[in-house]
Amino acid sequence: MDKRHKEALIRLSGDKVVFNCPMAQYTTMGVGGASEALYKADELDELRLLIAFLNSEHIPYLIIGRGSNLLIKDNGFEGVAILLKGSLAGIERKDGDDLTVLAGAGLPLVDLITFCRNSGLGGLECFAGIPGTVGGAVIMNAGAFGNEFGSRVQTLEMITREGNLIQKDRAQLMFSYRRLEIEDGQVAVRARIILERESKEVVTGRIADYLKKRKIGQPMEYPSSGSVFKNPPSQYAGRLIEQAGLKGMRIGGAMISEKHANFIVNTGNASARNILDLIFLAQSKVKEQTGIELEPEIKIVGN
Ligand SMILES: Cc1cc2nc3c(=O)[nH]c(=O)nc-3n(C[C@H](O)[C@H](O)[C@H](O)COP(=O)(O)OP(=O)(O)OC[C@H]3O[C@@H](n4cnc5c(N)ncnc54)[C@H](O)[C@@H]3O)c2cc1C
Repeated sequence: MDKRHKEALIRLSGDKVVFNCPMAQYTTMGVGGASEALYKADELDELRLLIAFLNSEHIPYLIIGRGSNLLIKDNGFEGVAILLKGSLAGIERKDGDDLTVLAGAGLPLVDLITFCRNSGLGGLECFAGIPGTVGGAVIMNAGAFGNEFGSRVQTLEMITREGNLIQKDRAQLMFSYRRLEIEDGQVAVRARIILERESKEVVTGRIADYLKKRKIGQPMEYPSSGSVFKNPPSQYAGRLIEQAGLKGMRIGGAMISEKHANFIVNTGNASARNILDLIFLAQSKVKEQTGIELEPEIKIVGN
């Protein structure tokens, strides 16, 4: 980005852009270098202008939800990291008969689930404990206990690279394992989520049960990015890594979790390099022993 680009971003944003911004605090793993700029967008029209501008100037950008499936490398991200806030993180429901809600992509999943519970709407309880946003859950097609978030999405509004707002309905949304097919550079801004009528007490109970199961199976006591690898067909990545003898393996401050081998945790002072080295180690050991290539689920960005 040159001086002219920076001035244009300041004109567009007022005080909502920060340059050379350390990114560790914007990911749940808590590692990574700085982004050239961090832009907190809170209105749709502003975001449309921003996306059109960045594309017309060929400036890379990265939408960050809660950064809970994201590893930013130690030398940071050359481009603009974008957070969706304000009206891009809102939630609406027409009336008490409506069995859908319209959720902004920047809305934390926990707020969506709480809103549904308080409105007597069920269906999302299994996703309780996933520390992402609605946008991240849609783009990653987050999954839990045999359910996929994509199955709850009725429509999705997105911004194209040209800054136009488009809407896709269920039939046009191609969800697969931890993936929604979208064109490069498109930004999810709002999803209509389909729910079921359910009593607040039942929803509350189910949320508590799912959170309990998570606590037993996942290393919640350390920062992480959730599952590092996708499960290969009819296999569990965690089991393959455990069978390769890597549970508890440490490089620097990063460790393959003792509790769940598909989690790499930050025990306090990990660098992105430490985490990447453990990722390569797990891939090479599992490949050597089983011939299976583990594919990262987490998104690895930057330099
Ligand atoms: C403790 C823990 C438990 C977890 N448990 C689960 C689990 O059970 N199931 C599961 O599936 N995942 C799980 N995860 C991983 C992660 O929380 C999910 O993938 C989540 O959906 C990611 O959301 P996010 O908002 O943090 O996305 P981010 O990590 O910020 O982003 C992920 C990707 O989506 C893109 N993106 C985000 N928002 C948008 C948008 N609006 N438009 C376009 N692109 C966008 C980003 O650019 C990036 O490529 C867990 C993570 C942790 C730390």
